Amino acid sequence: MSKYWSPIVRKLQPYVAGEQARIANLVKLNTNENPYGPSPRALEAIREAADDRLRLYPDPTATELREAIAARFGLTVDEVFVGNGSDEVLAHTFQALLKHERPLLYPDVSYNFYPTYSLLYGIEAVEIPLDDGFRIRLEDYDRPCGALIIPNPNAPTGIGLPLAGIEALLAAHPEAVVVIDEAYVDFGGESAVRLVSTYPNLLVIQTLSKSRSLAGLRIGFALGQRPLIEALERVKDSFNSYPLDRLAQLAATEAIRDEDWFDLCRMRVIASREGLIPELKALGFEVLPSQANFVFARHERQSGVALQAGLRERNILVRHFARPRISDFLRISIGTDEECARLVSVLRDMLAA
Ligand code: PMP
Repeated sequence: MSKYWSPIVRKLQPYVAGEQARIANLVKLNTNENPYGPSPRALEAIREAADDRLRLYPDPTATELREAIAARFGLTVDEVFVGNGSDEVLAHTFQALLKHERPLLYPDVSYNFYPTYSLLYGIEAVEIPLDDGFRIRLEDYDRPCGALIIPNPNAPTGIGLPLAGIEALLAAHPEAVVVIDEAYVDFGGESAVRLVSTYPNLLVIQTLSKSRSLAGLRIGFALGQRPLIEALERVKDSFNSYPLDRLAQLAATEAIRDEDWFDLCRMRVIASREGLIPELKALGFEVLPSQANFVFARHERQSGVALQAGLRERNILVRHFARPRISDFLRISIGTDEECARLVSVLRDMLAA
């Protein structure tokens, strides 16, 4: 706290990102990164472009990337907005579209950046409790609101909503923007992108950080009808005209075009997840059904804090949230089969001791 701070800064509750530890031989299962590298075509694009041209500003509209995304999803280029990670796209969305007289609704257990952005932009938010099985109960959203945001699959639970549920929400709230945060959708969820042309109130947000293995390059995007995208452009061009650098734009374009690599990596992650779940259950974990590149699990005897600390001592990082209802859960990102096997064997030793 300092007398120099603006009043708003005193009230902020910044998001705390997962640890990026500098430890040798680390098994890093704490920030939902992809264990496989990005598309070789994306890496080649960066190598080819790393030259004198970096003295020039990048394309402020990222048109080639937006064209690639539009082609991939069957939309037009002006229905695509790109930003520096989907976190930035989300931030602009909160400011541009989610602040109204009536409150913003989102699940009580969901992405921790939502309360952070709500405070940053002075948005009144109401957290709607998940049911006892940690599922979203759609009837609970049947109340007056200015906007809704829902991760699908939800994070950190990993549980997905079927498309029919999303469509019911859109139809029930024609006056409210409904944002579907699809950071994890490529690992088994059902995307709402195909509803964009029907629902003017739908904004779908995705990222290249997870299923396209580019968390380090920071690229996210939003898909929606023109008026919603235009609102995001207005905020972006009042904030930073060049959120995506040259290398990021080129690599992201190739990553979107490289459908084969995308399928290969996400299928491997899904297969490893399906292998890991029964192993964890055999060790006494309750594991929520996951459609994401992580699982959310709690042990019948051990606390989440103790397990996370024990794993960390043994060079395995997983994520733990000291929050009501979920403090005994671990969020475990899906690694390679070897990393999953190491996790299981270390857990087995810890639990036997
Ligand atoms: N949405 C959700 C639900 C997430 O878990 C994350 C990753 N922390 C993001 C959005 C942001 O991802 P990125 O900024 O890397 O695109």
